[in-house]
Amino acid sequence: MDKVGSASNPLRVAIVGSGPAGFYAAEELLKAEEPQVAVDLFDRLPTPYGLVRGGVAPDHQKIKSVIKLYERTAARPGFRFFGNVQFGKEISLEEMLGAYHQLLFTTGAEHDRRVGIPGEDLAGSFPATVFVGWYNGHPDYRHYTFDLSGEKVAVIGNGNVAMDVIRILAKTISELEKTDIADYALETLKRSNIREIYMLGRRGPAQAAFTNPEIRELTSIEGCDLVVNPADLELDEVNQDFLAGVKEPTYKRNVEILKGQIPKGVGSQPRKIHARFFTSPVEVLGSDRVEGLRLEKNRLVKDEKGAFRAQGTGETEELAIQLLFRSIGYKGHPLAGLPFDEWSGLVPNAQGRVLDPESGRPIPRLYVAGWIKRGPNGVIGTNKPDAIGTVKLMREDLGALDAMEGFQPDGEAIIRLLEAKNLRYVTFPDWQRIDAIEVEKGKTSGRPRVKFAAIEEMLAVLE
Ligand code: NAP
Repeated sequence: MDKVGSASNPLRVAIVGSGPAGFYAAEELLKAEEPQVAVDLFDRLPTPYGLVRGGVAPDHQKIKSVIKLYERTAARPGFRFFGNVQFGKEISLEEMLGAYHQLLFTTGAEHDRRVGIPGEDLAGSFPATVFVGWYNGHPDYRHYTFDLSGEKVAVIGNGNVAMDVIRILAKTISELEKTDIADYALETLKRSNIREIYMLGRRGPAQAAFTNPEIRELTSIEGCDLVVNPADLELDEVNQDFLAGVKEPTYKRNVEILKGQIPKGVGSQPRKIHARFFTSPVEVLGSDRVEGLRLEKNRLVKDEKGAFRAQGTGETEELAIQLLFRSIGYKGHPLAGLPFDEWSGLVPNAQGRVLDPESGRPIPRLYVAGWIKRGPNGVIGTNKPDAIGTVKLMREDLGALDAMEGFQPDGEAIIRLLEAKNLRYVTFPDWQRIDAIEVEKGKTSGRPRVKFAAIEEMLAVLE
């Protein structure tokens, strides 16, 4: 058998999940001259780029320019894309292991975390993940409907996803119609009656997870005021202790940005974002749909381990709302045949090597990178060093592959398999045709693109 990684027996890697972590890993694998690598990048959707297409807000087009780098990776010899192929359903772990030396999973964290309060599942209460997927034209979420006829909406959580959701709800149509927001979402938002948006943080402004540009953006939305409660910005000793202990300037700056809103009071614009801190929803109120929230006032405490936590004071109030978004973080989901840790929502791993939970030892040939490896945190670029770290281990493990006597998969094996299953896989040139049509459609209306949201429509243009 030829040495794995030689020209006659290139290292064959399947990457499952074509978001940033998948592309950064593919780049790292393909850019080196040694070992020789062939990468097949799979996605269950016909479209690549994961959250860059389906998660990044439509009014943040600059962030999406990272796609140019991924296109360069896709142009490298040895790269192939297999879109519209669902791992675990249409192709099994065993089948993949028969066709590749190593498998790398970069499937992200698609599910939402639950708040765990009564009424959470009432009509009109949605995870932010669903709303984000919907306005971004993600095929899984395009069928949802959102009733924006009420005036009051609350968003639970102080992360950047909450900021995205709030901006999309607060912005004027003239701003949104310049973006690649899904057409149906634009139509629904045109009829929106939303006037009051409550942004609810369980801890204080000093602990908020949003970053400076994101909160600053909320201070200058056309037709909308960001209203703060001055009392939330008077930092007590515990809050000062917190700020004294963080090196990151982000937290202090967040507080300064919010303090800058105090002199503006409630403002005079038609729409308001009310930033409310130190408050936890304890119940979603309503008989058959959301009518309100019961909120408990919190204080910040430092626990025995030194962690700064929100502690309920027992003091409650009711807030009337007609719509609720829960934006308290994402969660990974299990992959068929791989171990999964329900508590963390991750595939158990040591720096990217998938671990057998029984023995605690690495399972040969299986790896993870990105959010399914480390959890849903960081920005897009955080996935680059993360993916490089995993690829380094994949290279270190090459020696063990040479010991797999007689295992020399060929590049056609996967195609034979997919064709035998009658699967219409989407290649990178196929995707480029879909991409070109979307961009062309956008030109007539001055938009970056008009997205296809239905898989059938994407496949139809390829026939
Ligand atoms: P996140 O940054 O982890 O924020 C989650 C928020 O939910 C925190 O404010 C957290 O408060 C709160 N929370 C958690 N459990 C809660 C509960 N039971 N009740 C009330 N609040 C609760 O998550 P994310 O917003 O989903 O973002 C995920 C990652 O994507 C982040 O790294 C984010 O920066 C990134 N992202 C970046 C951008 C951008 O760069 N523009 C855009 C979108 C997303 P505590 O702090 O008290 O836990």
